[in-house]
Amino acid sequence: MARDAEAGALAGAVRSTCPYCGVGCGVVAQADGRVVGDTTHPANRGRLCSKGSALAETLKDGERLTRPLIDGRAADWTQALDLVAQRFKATIAEHGPDSVAFYVSGQCLTEDYYVANKLMKGFIGSGNIDTNSRLCMASSVAGHNRAFGADVVPGTYEDLELADLVVLVGSNSAWCHPVLHQRLLAARAKRPIRIVAIDPRRTATCEDADLHLAVRPGTDVALFNGLLAHLADQDQLDHAWMAAHAEGFEAALAAARQTADQTAALTGLDPADLARFYQWFASTPRVVTVYSQGVNQSSVGTDKVNAIINCHLATGRIGKPGCGPFSITGQPNAMGGREVGGLANQLAAHMRFDQPEAIDRVRRFWRAPNLATKPGLKAVEMFDAVLDGRIKALWIIATNPADSLPRADRVREALRACPFVVVSDCWPNDTTALADVVLPAAGWGERDGTVTNSERVISRQRPFRAAPGEARADWRVLAAVGQRMGWKDAFSWTSPAAVFREHAALSGFENAGSRPFDISGLAMLTDGQYDALAPVRWPVRWAGDEGGRLFGQGGFATPNGRGRLVPTPWRPTAARADDAYPLVLNTGRIRDQWHTMTRTGRVPRLLAHTGEPRAALSPTDAARLGVTDGDLMRIESVHASTVVRATVDAGQRVGDLFLPMHWTDEFCSAGPAGRLVNAALDPISGQPELKLTPVRAEKVAVAWRGLLLHRAAVRPQGVAYWSRVPLSNGHAFELVGSDALPAGAALTRFVEGLLHPPAGAEWLQLTDAGRGLLRVAILVDGRLEACLFLAAGEGAQLPPRDVLAALLGDKVTDAARPSLLSGRAPGGLGASGVKSAGRTVCACFSVGLVTIRDAIVANRLTSAEEIGTCLKAGTNCGSCIPELKEILRDVHASA
Ligand code: SF4
Repeated sequence: MARDAEAGALAGAVRSTCPYCGVGCGVVAQADGRVVGDTTHPANRGRLCSKGSALAETLKDGERLTRPLIDGRAADWTQALDLVAQRFKATIAEHGPDSVAFYVSGQCLTEDYYVANKLMKGFIGSGNIDTNSRLCMASSVAGHNRAFGADVVPGTYEDLELADLVVLVGSNSAWCHPVLHQRLLAARAKRPIRIVAIDPRRTATCEDADLHLAVRPGTDVALFNGLLAHLADQDQLDHAWMAAHAEGFEAALAAARQTADQTAALTGLDPADLARFYQWFASTPRVVTVYSQGVNQSSVGTDKVNAIINCHLATGRIGKPGCGPFSITGQPNAMGGREVGGLANQLAAHMRFDQPEAIDRVRRFWRAPNLATKPGLKAVEMFDAVLDGRIKALWIIATNPADSLPRADRVREALRACPFVVVSDCWPNDTTALADVVLPAAGWGERDGTVTNSERVISRQRPFRAAPGEARADWRVLAAVGQRMGWKDAFSWTSPAAVFREHAALSGFENAGSRPFDISGLAMLTDGQYDALAPVRWPVRWAGDEGGRLFGQGGFATPNGRGRLVPTPWRPTAARADDAYPLVLNTGRIRDQWHTMTRTGRVPRLLAHTGEPRAALSPTDAARLGVTDGDLMRIESVHASTVVRATVDAGQRVGDLFLPMHWTDEFCSAGPAGRLVNAALDPISGQPELKLTPVRAEKVAVAWRGLLLHRAAVRPQGVAYWSRVPLSNGHAFELVGSDALPAGAALTRFVEGLLHPPAGAEWLQLTDAGRGLLRVAILVDGRLEACLFLAAGEGAQLPPRDVLAALLGDKVTDAARPSLLSGRAPGGLGASGVKSAGRTVCACFSVGLVTIRDAIVANRLTSAEEIGTCLKAGTNCGSCIPELKEILRDVHASA
């Protein structure tokens, strides 16, 4: 990772970094338009997952925001910037600096983040800047600060490959951090590495584990307290290391004391499984414990983090090859945001508000007499303050809180009530729809700056295409507003390199080794060196020095340099199931989607594996509710209710539901899962409990099912449920009704509400009341605009989607018209003349379930590797391999 390496020097190609998860894979945007893995990047060495592999397909301008909008009308930048600056200034003048706020994002580049933080904390004089990383990482930040004295991830990805035991806690890495997961599996293929997965759900990751502990939701603290007590009882502690480098062991152990029976009762785990895990941990010198959202997104998240770190500090398993607690971030630049101080309770460059000398230091460095001196409002509190009128001007950048925050309807209410809302984004979404001013942002491939991944590696995101229309980089827009608000000199950068140099200089200002986050060795980069910057791990204190593992020999950022074991007495989560809401709802990511689908939801093959937000529940709960696979189910919390389809999943614990977090009103009648989710907060980190909302569920009657194929992304009206997936030439909708289909004129109105036929459309219809069938095709200028198939009955059969979808937009001859209503393309097969490949399993190579099953039978395949050789499925990112194994088992079982 030499800093002066040849980054960006490929002929006609540009090196950059994937904009999705915190693994931070390097990519190469090639001159032929393809985006491939960067074989020189230390995070991925050329590998990409399904999302990264589809990056080129997200680069369509389509509905991009290209001009500033004021009250929905196009404006020029001067008008928009003047208005934003004037409204923020006026609000501050009348109501004080805490009456305004910024809500930013782990999608922002470090340079964007730095300028936003400097503007809010340094010059506006409020701590009211928070980031959507609050939903993702805040408990890890708080846990790191408590234990290490600074927000530091001590290890590197290589540690997962060097460990003999990897413990994955609340981390479905096979789907959420696929490239890192594949690195682990590749290392395990060469030598034994035990994997333990701790997760209430049996996820794809658990399929690769030697032991799966299906822990009761929210009880990880009890599990790791039990481990600390076991390590003490078995005298498996590193007393010498603790004596030299740590403190707080006795108090932490006293708080962790519980019997093995108590641990089993609290966690719901088999005592034998618990004993095996504890024995493996105790007897394995090289252990890495990886944790992510299952740990962080909890009202006891910070304690979970410290309970894990306690076990590593007590055994000295930190900062050494193959050892350490390892927080993996969800977003591409959650770490960069933490580095600049993008969280409301941080100041800047890993300095905090509880350090008076730090406040003075940052004030002098920025020459900011109005510097904020206290933390601002954290995400959930911030939107509460918007709703109750304390915050009167809000600027949201690169995030979609109208869908992603808990109690999403309340957030929308807050945005409607707020006197002035500015939203900077690339795409229209449910948040831009509620803005007074919308500012078009440059997106991935157009932006120029840096990001930091989960192993502290700073990488460049480089531009390789022009931003559409008048879209601009967020840092430029923020700086322009700062200048207009009266701080010309402080916001006078002319390049992202200049912003980065200032950020790097601040990290080293009066540091002298006291703060681990120090990249002052990069503060003198020329513009050319910044352009060519190769991935580099911090700290970077001087030229040639590059960071590695931290804390192996102590040197923590606490006042006495010792790592702190923190007492984490067991306490239950704030939210719990009860008689009224007897189930608990867990929300999370799926394999091929990202956040609220503003990019990945536009790529057909990324919706081919999972095309709708199904709620998974255990067979026991399904039987109790009378629900079978594919049925409609109403889920209700105290905040909202929604209707989704059910998946009966033997990997779900009894009493638990799982719902993907990605879908919005744009893609499905169910809307965002965030509507249902409660806002119980961790008292230290302020992170909301996104994985544990009490709910109840019931079956919804199904009277008919339908398939709609349409050129346009219409929103069907009058149905119990719809979901939409994009196609290359239109959209496919699944429809379900819970009331009988109407008749006569009411039926015509109902069908029009589904089809939204354009004026002058030609209408073909077949109604068979006896069989409960309705089929409609509409043509515009002789081309197929839409077709609709409705069939009465709960188990109604519909024609396969991909057979007719290929005809959307095509000219339809007179001879072919009757076949449209028969549900078959002319010729009886798909337009391509081949039968349907079935639901997509491998998104990287678009390999369907039917194709895989046929190949297993025809070629007598017995392993995922053989399927890969035959069909390529599973040979890129590998995240479908657990599913390939399941299909193999299923085919062989039914043979
Ligand atoms: S694992 Fe996938 S989503 Fe994450 S950075 Fe790598 S390519 Fe992107």
